[in-house]
Amino acid sequence: MALKQFLLGLGSNLGDSLSALQRAVQLIADHKQLKLLKVSPVYRSNAQLKPGAPAEWNLPFLNLAILVETNLTPLELLQVTQRLEARLGRPKKHLEWSPRTIDIDILMAKFVKSSYIKVHHPRLKVPHPSFLERPFALLPAAYVAPDWIAPGANLTLSSYAKQQWPDSRFVPFNTTCTTLSAHAPYLMGIINVTAESFSDGILDTAKALDAAKTLYQDGAAIIDVGAEATNPNAPSLNAHVEWQRLEPFLAGWTKIFPDRLARPKLSIDTYHVETLVKLLNYPFVDYFNLVLDTLSEHGAVWQRLSQNSKAKFIFTHNLALPNRSRCLDLALDPTTQVLNWAKALLKRAKALKIPRSRIIIDPGLGFSKVSTQDWQLLRHLDRLSTLKVPLLVGHSRKSFLGDLAPLTERDALTAQLSAYLAKEPSVEIIRVHNVKASRQALQLSDLLTT
Ligand code: ATP
Ligand code: CA
Ligand code: CA
Repeated sequence: MALKQFLLGLGSNLGDSLSALQRAVQLIADHKQLKLLKVSPVYRSNAQLKPGAPAEWNLPFLNLAILVETNLTPLELLQVTQRLEARLGRPKKHLEWSPRTIDIDILMAKFVKSSYIKVHHPRLKVPHPSFLERPFALLPAAYVAPDWIAPGANLTLSSYAKQQWPDSRFVPFNTTCTTLSAHAPYLMGIINVTAESFSDGILDTAKALDAAKTLYQDGAAIIDVGAEATNPNAPSLNAHVEWQRLEPFLAGWTKIFPDRLARPKLSIDTYHVETLVKLLNYPFVDYFNLVLDTLSEHGAVWQRLSQNSKAKFIFTHNLALPNRSRCLDLALDPTTQVLNWAKALLKRAKALKIPRSRIIIDPGLGFSKVSTQDWQLLRHLDRLSTLKVPLLVGHSRKSFLGDLAPLTERDALTAQLSAYLAKEPSVEIIRVHNVKASRQALQLSDLLTT
């Protein structure tokens, strides 16, 4: 049972390709016999077609590569990947090179710190016979395994790719690296449709929608829109004014992102129950980001929300709303206090039959906490993973960073902290203002990881 590493190539060009890739990566990450080591960004390319292929097969692909560690044999792994393909909707019988919801190929394999593995079996050839000629397979592969030796060549995968296609503008099939991400942690970009936010309020709807577009291009998988500033010095807003700000944004959303398959997920940041109920009329809202936990007061509403939508609920630890002066107990361990709150919340959610799979917990950095408590929570984030629900962390430009830098100089620290948070497997969403800086920081740590 020797430990091996496998380089897998994933591709999709049918239906919601990005979701298919995301689900495939998630299923691989959750698989008991596989350990996910690294995931490349998403690449886009034109389809590779056989001569005479029907014109409707010419659908663009999204591709990525991943590196996994496992004790499985290559044939056992093939069985796992083929089951995943079937589970994600690929029919067992399909025409060669026809469009597919998902394709998972084993590109290369090696024993850890040792020799490469070759397989010559009627059902499996490793290394994959044609992956070096395919930029949509080799480029992502070189991202996750840059130092692996290209089969039959005396070059690493990254050097081989560079030699094949020295100019990234002229790559066969027009393969390009995108800012789309198919794996956690997902970056959530912040839009404040407010006048009171402490760093970046935009009250003009058109400008707010433009900002959403830019954040998506920068790499945001989710856009979080809030109409009420929740910083400690901002005034409370009533639900009516909040809705006056949100409604035009929601109306514009499907106009700026007409393609359901090529837009970020949408999250609405609110604590007004009235607003949440109105959001039921907007099925494209993917997350209700609740800066307050009102589960105990409004149980019936929560039940209605969970039954009548598919959205996920993000519950934030925040003692300070609507009373902005309440704070965590300084005499007690802050992480334990947040943990206890989260456990009680999950219990109430269970009683209300809100599925656990729809709950995300945000420890609420900066909300009702002093900076030493925020730092302590960050150092002990792994303790929150015992909750076994995904975490959202919002650290962007927060006041605890004021221990190191003034407000206008916090983006570099925020990005650095994002890269640190990405190492914690339970962190599923990282909420930031400057998405580009955090994406670059995540990629930087990828490039430094062997
Ligand atoms: P290509 O192999 O050219 O990328 P494809 O991925 O579209 O084409 P599929 O229809 O997915 O081809 O697979 C056909 C068969 O290839 C599978 O049933 C599988 O047994 C076999 N196969 C051989 N080598 C590999 C490999 N390295 N990874 C995955 N499948 C392989
Ligand atoms: Ca293939
Ligand atoms: Ca295949």
